[in-house]
Amino acid sequence: MAPNRKIVIVGGGIGGLTAALSLLKRGHDVEVHEQAPELKEVGAGIQISSNGTRVLFALGLEEALKRVQVLPSRRAIRHWATGETWNWFDLGAATRERYGTPHVMLHRGDLHGLLADAVRAIKPDAIMLGRRCAGITTDGDDADVRFENGDSVRAAYVIGADGIHSKIRAALFGADKPEFTGAVAWRGLIPMDELPSHLRTMEGVNWLGPHGHVLHYPVRRGELMNFISFVERDDWQIESWVTQGTKDELAGNFRGWHADVHEMISRIATPYKWALMVRGAMPRWSRGRVTLLGDACHPTLPFLGQGGVMAIEDGYIVAACLDKYFGDPAAAFTRYEEIRRERTATVVRKAHENRRSAFSPALADPGAVAVEVAREWQQERVRERMEWLYAYDATAVAI
Ligand SMILES: Cc1cc2nc3c(=O)[nH]c(=O)nc-3n(C[C@H](O)[C@H](O)[C@H](O)COP(=O)(O)OP(=O)(O)OC[C@H]3O[C@@H](n4cnc5c(N)ncnc54)[C@H](O)[C@@H]3O)c2cc1C
Repeated sequence: MAPNRKIVIVGGGIGGLTAALSLLKRGHDVEVHEQAPELKEVGAGIQISSNGTRVLFALGLEEALKRVQVLPSRRAIRHWATGETWNWFDLGAATRERYGTPHVMLHRGDLHGLLADAVRAIKPDAIMLGRRCAGITTDGDDADVRFENGDSVRAAYVIGADGIHSKIRAALFGADKPEFTGAVAWRGLIPMDELPSHLRTMEGVNWLGPHGHVLHYPVRRGELMNFISFVERDDWQIESWVTQGTKDELAGNFRGWHADVHEMISRIATPYKWALMVRGAMPRWSRGRVTLLGDACHPTLPFLGQGGVMAIEDGYIVAACLDKYFGDPAAAFTRYEEIRRERTATVVRKAHENRRSAFSPALADPGAVAVEVAREWQQERVRERMEWLYAYDATAVAI
């Protein structure tokens, strides 16, 4: 019998679909098993910085992105109480010139949809829905993935791309121990044409304040405004993207903040809340013929906007490693981890550090925001600090 060459990816999120597309483009046989009964992402925005668009362009997605993206002009900072505005750093043409590929703002469903379309254009039945993984066993040359509906599939390799509550991670390495950070994230979408004209801008805005942080940016060709906020509170500890809150509760978390913030909150159709947790770094991501990517192995706080981008970089590189060392799982996954471990650990660490500067009680003082902006948030300083992140080229790494 011919040896099994199938690569099974558990989880059809952004990382899983990027890995699938990268493998299909290299001629491999791939199946993606996704628990959801239909293929759709949560209604929320995602920013993909130049290091992420570099990978998406290499996978042939530049034109598809153009149909849905927003190319923002800049990031601005605003004072939580007075609304005073500072230019933080330029995006748009400046980013493209500097890094070769743009920084884009997207609806997660649009990014997910264009990745799925590209996968299905190569293999129409690659994505299998309603397949919630229940466990995995490996023996010799194969791995056996079991699903809750009783089905199972044998594969030469398995990639666990099943997110922060990964079943594959738990099966390989045991249960994790998340620790609550004391902060909760809120998210919601607002139809752009419902906002007053001064808030309908094609830029990202970060509001600096004490005990909280607000961020909003346009998505889906500028038709929607994505609203995210973070607040210090310890009475909510559920880590889920789909738990609804109320506008009153969200508004209450930002009592005393500028009227523009409340204008936005009042127009969010449904606000969702998510408790922010941290986990210790994993010493290994792979065992035998099974490995992990994205949030399954290095979940990060959202204060650097890189969790999804890291999953995209992982997806591209794990595919390149499997392609080069197909017959040798140890070589493939050792090389994959060597390439990815330090970079993703740095992202996790820096996102954690950013949580401290994103909001601090000192910012309650009306003068403190201006001082903070002058010290920490200047364009040049940000450029220096972010160069290692945005200039990285996952498509050019020696495998
Ligand atoms: C408030 C907030 C804002 C953020 N903003 C940004 C941003 O601007 N830029 C950025 O890069 N990142 C951002 N992130 C992080 C980003 O959302 C994640 O890092 C990213 O989604 C991880 O991708 P993934 O493919 O690893 O996992 P996921 O996107 O979680 O995908 C996992 C997939 O696996 C499926 N699955 C789960 N369990 C099973 C199972 N047992 N069987 C089968 N399928 C299963 C799920 O249904 C899902 O489709 C943000 C996060 C938060 C909380």
